[in-house]
Amino acid sequence: MSNDKTKKIGVYVCHCGTNISHTVDVEKVRDWAAEGLGAEGVVIARDYKFMCSSPGQELIEQDIKELGLDRVVVAACSPHLHELTFRNAGKRAGLNPYLTELASIREQVSWVHTDKEAATAKAKAVVTGAVERVIENEPLEELKVAIHPDTLVVGGGIAGIQAALEIANAGKKVWLVERDASIGGHMAQFDKTFPTLDCAACILTPRMFEAGNHPNIELMTWSEVTNVAGYVGNFSVTIKKKPRYLKEELCTGCRICVEKCPKKIVDQGYEAGIGYRKAIYTSSAQAVPKYPVIDTANCNFFQKGTCKVCEKSCPTEAIDYEQKEEFLTVDVGNIILATGYDLFDARKMSNYGYGRLPNVFTSIEFERMCNAAGPTSGDIVLRDGKTTPKTVGIIHCVGSRDRNYNNYCSNICCMQSLKFAHLVKERTGATVYDFYIDMRTPMKAYDEFYQRVLEEGTLFVRGKVAQVTDAARKASEEGKLMIQVEDTLIGKQRRIPVDMVILSIGMEPRHDAKETGKLFGIGCSANGWFTEKHAKLDPISTMTEGIFIAGTATGPKDIPSSVAQGSAAAARVLNMIMRGEVTLEPIKASVYQGQCSGCRICNSLCPFNAITFLEDRKVSEINPALCQGCGTCVAACPAGAISGTGFSNDQILAQIDGLLMDVTLADA
Ligand code: SF4
Ligand code: SF4
Repeated sequence: MSNDKTKKIGVYVCHCGTNISHTVDVEKVRDWAAEGLGAEGVVIARDYKFMCSSPGQELIEQDIKELGLDRVVVAACSPHLHELTFRNAGKRAGLNPYLTELASIREQVSWVHTDKEAATAKAKAVVTGAVERVIENEPLEELKVAIHPDTLVVGGGIAGIQAALEIANAGKKVWLVERDASIGGHMAQFDKTFPTLDCAACILTPRMFEAGNHPNIELMTWSEVTNVAGYVGNFSVTIKKKPRYLKEELCTGCRICVEKCPKKIVDQGYEAGIGYRKAIYTSSAQAVPKYPVIDTANCNFFQKGTCKVCEKSCPTEAIDYEQKEEFLTVDVGNIILATGYDLFDARKMSNYGYGRLPNVFTSIEFERMCNAAGPTSGDIVLRDGKTTPKTVGIIHCVGSRDRNYNNYCSNICCMQSLKFAHLVKERTGATVYDFYIDMRTPMKAYDEFYQRVLEEGTLFVRGKVAQVTDAARKASEEGKLMIQVEDTLIGKQRRIPVDMVILSIGMEPRHDAKETGKLFGIGCSANGWFTEKHAKLDPISTMTEGIFIAGTATGPKDIPSSVAQGSAAAARVLNMIMRGEVTLEPIKASVYQGQCSGCRICNSLCPFNAITFLEDRKVSEINPALCQGCGTCVAACPAGAISGTGFSNDQILAQIDGLLMDVTLADA
């Protein structure tokens, strides 16, 4: 094999409690390393219950110092979890961190096999591969890059606002970009928030105002990010500012134009389709910023060339029909994506009749109906706008926990439904049926709220509703919506007549989450939510350094969790800014330009946009600060012109040699 016998290698095999040792004979793997790999330079092999614990790490450090080890292999969990832990242990003992290799015998062996003998043989092979590879490892030096002190926050919902305010209050500049005309997000549509029943506007609008008027926040609404270049600490971001068709510097936000505008249309956005707005509008009177925007698709002037009522009525001559979109490029060191969620389209579940049966409402329609500033001034009424329902059915999990739509739990629907049950009871005295699959109320004061709603007399039916129909089977069902459900607690089919149905619709990733992810160089899960660097240990980081995620962009969340993530992302950004520079992994690819044929295959494959083509020399070049060392280009280059530090051909081939070695020798 490849060791020139000058390397002194230590091998450390972890039991991971019983995670590894229940399937892999850890002692046999240790003995194989000590005896079978002695010729490769292994001078010590040990096993330990928890190698990542303090005593486990100290064991490694002690051996490095006392035995003069210059290479270490830890056979444990995946590098994703603890590579850094063991690199740091080596570093503390004076070993270059890149001379430590992790052999994954948990994720790749014990968790995927049941036959102990075969699993043990495979573990030996994996360890052997790591030993052969570590022999080829070179000491590497980390790269340091300066951090620009400004931050970009994308998304002006509650998570984005929180992140922006935390950073701005620490004295650092933030660009807060929101594609809608106002910040506030979905929360701005709500009436009350569970479980405390605080008025959503009372807790949100002061924060919106603060964000809109903070000297350190550059608020860019009606704007979208169109290009992201650069790397951690040094991003260059292009922002498109869409035309509002008015001059913000002249507009006082008096809304006279909105009042005078003759064109009234159904507001499918803020009012969720149950209210109206004008062709020139602000989402609400509390919008931040206060400037209206002209909806050109519905504006008489833009469509027919006549009207101009807003221009004539504006006391400050702020209307500007000629306004064009503008592009602005800003430099930032870090980016927080708090781009939020979309709502499930209830029309997809035709068995619930939404869009066909007038008195079937979605949860967001009901939120607007309950809102004192909403289309009905807070009155709970049927679609005719005047009849108060006497019986209301609330259906949970619409579009969630359903393999036909979304298999995940939307997290907030149970509590949202309980809030609706309380509001219906409080405001109408109606009989309320609440149809649930499982009641999920695990957060602070949630279950107490459930008990309260139970005591208020809401009737709970456990079972997934099969159908909502207006087809009466008998006279008493005439004019009613019939809810067909199997009540699983009593084991019976039931048909329950109600006047109104509220569908508690679930959360979905933004329709353009994949494109956004591509733009910022981050990934999405199979369900379409942004992927965290580590779901448990690093839930607000992404695999791209300097890009953080917060709020519902990563999955369904309630308001407290979204706010907490906004704060957490801000803390990470401030930490980076205060350090002034960031250390980058030296595991990078580079192009031997003499060998590059200029085919450009690698250019489009790099998921981090790290490769550019030098037109003058007709070769590709990799920006080491952008490269994440994924190895895609190395594998793809037909000329073999790209090599990766940390994954060179010599390392990979040595590892393959090791994996193929006869590991039964020591057992014989
Ligand atoms: S009337 Fe003029 S100043 Fe008033 S909100 Fe409209 S554009 Fe702004
Ligand atoms: S290894 Fe290649 S493909 Fe992967 S990030 Fe670096 S340059 Fe891009």
